[in-house]
Amino acid sequence: MGIGKSPKIQLKTPAQIDAMRVAGLVVATTLATLAQHVKSGVTTGDLDAIARQCIADAGATPSFLGYHGFPAVICTSVNDEVVHGIPGSRTLVDGDLIKIDCGAIVDGWHGDAAISVPVGQVSAQVATLSQVTEASMWAGLAMARPGGRLTDISHAVEQATVAAGTYGIVADYGGHGIGTAMHMDPHILNYGAPGRGPKLEVGMALAIEPMATLGQADVVVGTDGWTVSTADGSVAAHWEHTVAITEHGPWVLTALDDVRL
Ligand code: MG
Ligand code: MG
Repeated sequence: MGIGKSPKIQLKTPAQIDAMRVAGLVVATTLATLAQHVKSGVTTGDLDAIARQCIADAGATPSFLGYHGFPAVICTSVNDEVVHGIPGSRTLVDGDLIKIDCGAIVDGWHGDAAISVPVGQVSAQVATLSQVTEASMWAGLAMARPGGRLTDISHAVEQATVAAGTYGIVADYGGHGIGTAMHMDPHILNYGAPGRGPKLEVGMALAIEPMATLGQADVVVGTDGWTVSTADGSVAAHWEHTVAITEHGPWVLTALDDVRL
């Protein structure tokens, strides 16, 4: 965004935020169900089928299916795969870290969230990577309050990651505005100086989604045209929540519980 110019950011009424919470709860419930099914021997396609059923049972519509031609309900990305992996015949084995990204639409409003789930016992390094990435997401979420600026979120995510150790912070992908579409303005970097970008206002809804690696930050897109993997083959973690900016502060719309920071 240039100086004095901000992207148009959709503002929601409190009733519209409530409607987004309904979509967010569908995502939260689906991810919680999927996490319970993650174990050695399960395929990523099995998880996709479970997600499809969960979302249908809730009377919701999957955001991802058909999005720019994406062929599945969820994204499943294993180990060095960071995001946008396509579910299929891959069988999970002990020690894998699977990232599951899920979006759902209710009455035209979107929710978007992602979790990293260990398969059986993962290495201490991988477990810590996931914990650090999740903590960096929460640091970013906590900054989603009126009076702040967009890059306060970016900075908080980066600082939480850097303070925890040496990790690659994936720069090619980031968070985004969300509402009547899954991906809306603004783009949210997972790094950078604070105090820049649009002012954060009541009624904004943002998806905050840090991606960190045990190696370098560089990523490559696979031959399927979707799967984003680390260039150096290092394991990556990804966590995401959709948050609304309310007058009282952040309301995490895709949390299973009613989380207001
Ligand atoms: Mg997502
Ligand atoms: Mg997202």
